[in-house]
Amino acid sequence: MKMKPTSDVKTKTDTYIYGTYKRNPLTIMRAHGSWVWDDAGKKYLDFFSGLAVSGIGHNLPAVVKAVQTQVKRLMHTSNLYYTAPAADLAEQLCQRSFAAKVFFCNSGAEANEAAIKLIRKNGYPQGRHEIIVFENSFHGRTLGALAATAQPKFHEGFGPLPAGFPVAKMNRIDSVQALIGPKTAGILIEPVQGEGGIHPATREFLHALRALTREHHLVLAFDGVQCSLGRTGDLFSYQTYGVEPDLLTLAKGLGGGMPIGALLAAPAFSEVLKPGDHGTTFGGNPVCCAAALAVLKLLTPAMLKHVKQQGQDLMKELRAIIAGATFVKELRGMGLMIGMELTIPGAPFVEACRAKGLLINCTQGNVLRFLPPLALSVPERRAALKILKEVLRQPVPVA
Ligand code: PLP
Repeated sequence: MKMKPTSDVKTKTDTYIYGTYKRNPLTIMRAHGSWVWDDAGKKYLDFFSGLAVSGIGHNLPAVVKAVQTQVKRLMHTSNLYYTAPAADLAEQLCQRSFAAKVFFCNSGAEANEAAIKLIRKNGYPQGRHEIIVFENSFHGRTLGALAATAQPKFHEGFGPLPAGFPVAKMNRIDSVQALIGPKTAGILIEPVQGEGGIHPATREFLHALRALTREHHLVLAFDGVQCSLGRTGDLFSYQTYGVEPDLLTLAKGLGGGMPIGALLAAPAFSEVLKPGDHGTTFGGNPVCCAAALAVLKLLTPAMLKHVKQQGQDLMKELRAIIAGATFVKELRGMGLMIGMELTIPGAPFVEACRAKGLLINCTQGNVLRFLPPLALSVPERRAALKILKEVLRQPVPVA
């Protein structure tokens, strides 16, 4: 029997939307910059940026204007025709990176699927199909991206998954070397693991991976879905490391809130996928591309410098407020992508922050994850720290 229609958003959601997400008890009505407002009008400082999607900030006027203008002009054509926003965005992405070609899609998982298919197609003539991935990685929920995600908890109940994703250890080049064989086609890595608990690769490790992939003629693919587009203080995280990959996947922050993903390919890999090899109906949607163009315009050298400074200051201040907190195991990260690993569950801290008007997240059960908006102001950073200080100084909550 159907339920009587209800005006309560939470009830309606829990009744009719598939329960694949554990939602916070918060209905967000509107957002602007670093802030969101709930249905009672209470405002929250968003230190999570909608999972790094509203990367620079929420509803940025330039992005809103670009979307409005494009929506009125043209919303969709399919990839059977040419459109200016997709062409302009692809040009921008190539001009500002190592890439020669871009494939547009709609999400991070799809961008990684495209990377996986490209790596396999490239290795096909030599019978190479294996892609080395890393413990604690996260590449998305579609079956290929899921198989590449080396976290058994996400695999449970969905097997058999596509084979050919041997798992190496992050920052251990010997563990990668040990897995390379005649079937190895490439390596897929997040330069800074996000979902896995904010684990940055070391500089030495990424440089060693680059050397190793050159030596063995393997494709080196970086998943920059969470850690690119300014997060580490450079436009792309590979620039922070000074290591150019062959492939780079993007999504999340690219559209500033609009759904868009992209696979960027170096010149040597620009002819691997041929007409008919891959596709997606909405890929390169003109409205999403217009939004992404506006986002790229906002990611200026001054903005990236701001991120580096804010990241350094935030890290320093976080270190100061956790001094003596025995339940904090480690603080790590790069730029404005920071994780605080606890020896106890993190959920109560997330709730305590939310009650005080600060949105953060906990990943892996005990890593508090901070992904503040890149345009975070100094007073906003101080406001967040004040709340974090209060919450972290409280008696240790019981989960
Ligand atoms: N890759 C990384 C590094 C991610 O963090 C995520 C999502 O959290 C994905 C891929 C999947 O992106 P999407 O949820 O847009 O499919």
